[in-house]
Amino acid sequence: MRVPIVAANWKMHKTGAEAREYCRGFRALVPGDFPVELVIFPPFTALGAVREELEGTGIKWGAQNAHPEREGAFTGEVSLPMLREHGISYLIVGHSERRNIFGETDDFIARKLRAALDAGVSPILCVGEKLAERRAGRAREVVERQLAAALEGVRADEVGAIVIAYEPVWAIGTGVPARPEDAQEMAAFIRRWLADRFGGDAAAVRIQYGGSVKPDNAGAFLKLPDIDGALVGGASLDPDSFFAIAKAAVR
Ligand code: PEP
Repeated sequence: MRVPIVAANWKMHKTGAEAREYCRGFRALVPGDFPVELVIFPPFTALGAVREELEGTGIKWGAQNAHPEREGAFTGEVSLPMLREHGISYLIVGHSERRNIFGETDDFIARKLRAALDAGVSPILCVGEKLAERRAGRAREVVERQLAAALEGVRADEVGAIVIAYEPVWAIGTGVPARPEDAQEMAAFIRRWLADRFGGDAAAVRIQYGGSVKPDNAGAFLKLPDIDGALVGGASLDPDSFFAIAKAAVR
């Protein structure tokens, strides 16, 4: 049985003080036995505050980015061992903003995913097509290429630690989510692809939908058979809104 996972990608929002206030409000909403895994992804600078407020609550936190090398001459970058020191459980890998704004390639994303697994951190691997690719009937082809590249060196006994977030690029931050039937179709495709590549171990992989998830549409995605959670940007910045989405994932 896959435990649903709902994650908050704050992107470049919230100072340490704002993060602390959010976490105090959020943890007061979440019952101790809440049956959904919750993960907060603050900016690096707020990781310390988030850790102090969430340690011992069962709510987890992660990093939005990391460099694949352990250390070196990479000005401005942060490594997995440095982030592990902040107690992270998850790392977002392959987000479309990293691919498209910062030019991250499939190969670089694969190296980050490998570094996360080696550090004992679970990657959330984001995949998804652009609007022109969907219109051209190439959505599956693009997602398959992203999966194959990022998971190239992954062994079957490692795959259960990975979460896949299907995030159509055109749905991120636009207020226009995918149609639930299209999200389900792609999630089922991803699940079949993983089963072909990794066999029975792939059954443990959780697949999230991401792209303009809000409290009023979350239920339509989170009840779908092949969707095990959501990766939420804008609507995760308010604790009440994020918790309303998390509640929609309860099975
Ligand atoms: C995201 O950044 O991964 C995302 C899904 O953003 P939003 O919910 O704002 O579309």
